Amino acid sequence: MKRLTTSVSQDLFLAMVGFGIFIGVIFPFFTKFVLQLPQEKALNLTFFTMCITAGIIVGIFNFSIFRIVVCRFLEEMRKKINDFREKLNRYYWDRTIKCSPEECYIDMSSTDVVGSLVEDFNHFIDTIYHLVKTEHVRSEFMESLKKSLKINDVAEIIIKFFRDYFGGDAACILTYKRGQFNITKTWNLDMDIDKTDTDYWFRVLTEGRVILLEEVAEDLLAINIGLGRLKPKYIAYIPLVYQAHYVGIVILLSRTPFHKDFQSLESQNIISEATPFLYNALLMKRLELLAAIDELTGVLNRRFGIRRLNEEFERSKRHSLPLSVAMIDIDDFKKINDAYGHQCGDLVLKTLAELITQNIRVSDFVIRYGGEEFLVVIPGASSLDAMRLMDRLLNIVATFTVHYGGHEIHFTFSGGIATYPAENIKELSTLIQKADEALYQAKRTGKNQVIISG
Ligand code: GH3
Ligand code: MG
Ligand code: MG
Repeated sequence: MKRLTTSVSQDLFLAMVGFGIFIGVIFPFFTKFVLQLPQEKALNLTFFTMCITAGIIVGIFNFSIFRIVVCRFLEEMRKKINDFREKLNRYYWDRTIKCSPEECYIDMSSTDVVGSLVEDFNHFIDTIYHLVKTEHVRSEFMESLKKSLKINDVAEIIIKFFRDYFGGDAACILTYKRGQFNITKTWNLDMDIDKTDTDYWFRVLTEGRVILLEEVAEDLLAINIGLGRLKPKYIAYIPLVYQAHYVGIVILLSRTPFHKDFQSLESQNIISEATPFLYNALLMKRLELLAAIDELTGVLNRRFGIRRLNEEFERSKRHSLPLSVAMIDIDDFKKINDAYGHQCGDLVLKTLAELITQNIRVSDFVIRYGGEEFLVVIPGASSLDAMRLMDRLLNIVATFTVHYGGHEIHFTFSGGIATYPAENIKELSTLIQKADEALYQAKRTGKNQVIISG
């Protein structure tokens, strides 16, 4: 910083004393020509000396008054600035400290330039305080977002933060994937995606700027949101776009105006900084899904399936709940492959996986255990419950027709059921082995049937 070296006090002293001397010099002439004093009285050395001395004394006196009045104010201002600097420094680094800008105000009113200076100084404190506070809020938000890569957690943090920051009585996050919106998180909102205008959301997303609707009419709500209880008057559609990827939209609904301007740089920064976290969480979820799913059939692959089965087995152990598994194998599958080709075999595999998943509960799941072997996991089911489900599946599959290249293909499967807990089943590996043994028994004794281990 280039610094101008000067001494205001010194300049002022010289100016005031100089002016005193000047007045001292011209005063004798004034007395002679204006007041008509005789020349020997007005223009003699003694009178000159007295006038100049008086001028110097008045100059010094004025300067002292300036020191007392103005410097006292400047000194107080200096103290306030130092005090504020210290407080700000502590407040910036330690968010637990409570701080209010009023503590640092200069409390002085004056109608002249000093008053304006005090006012400007207090505004300056407000501005700095606001900047630090915004930075605190922003960094706390970022830190909480860093804690999880799970889409649910990230969406919840974003919703919570946006509703505190912008205001609102209800909110939701919709994530976007290949032309479709997904309701990822809602707060205070019953939302039926089928009743909503997803084209409108897509327009919001492609425009890439926050759309704020004010004094919203009720019928418009019905089209856009399809929500029940709340009748908000203000709606904000906040598009989340990250590096040309459409990530999603946050919708905020409020009965009263929002606290913040969505277009301000501060709001825009917060929105754009939150978006990559949601994008990464979505990506993570898709990757996890990709790694866990068998590409051909869409059911869990063996690696992830067994991991999940293990969790289910441990849960059953902990809560002493039954857990049944059914090992399924398509009958004479080689013949289908040989007769109609491998692609037809693939279609049969896909069909069987679909038929199973359509007929089990959400808590049940299917693993592609081998080439054309599936393991159906039925938590909470006894072997009889599992048998009932398998009987139903045997019927469904046996009466189902696969159409391939003008052919009508029918197929059947065989299965073996094992259930935990049982006398001889203490470990997961034994449970699977027992189901496998029962399957072989089913194969040996006629196929198109399911046998319970034991
Ligand atoms: P069984 O009634 O005794 O089970 O007779 P099977 O002909 O079904 O015999 P097996 O279970 O041993 O047959 C396995 C066949 O499944 C062999 C393999 O070519 C076929 N296969 C394994 N994975 C796939 C796949 O992904 N697609 C197709 N099309 N065939 C597969
Ligand atoms: Mg087979
Ligand atoms: Mg097999």
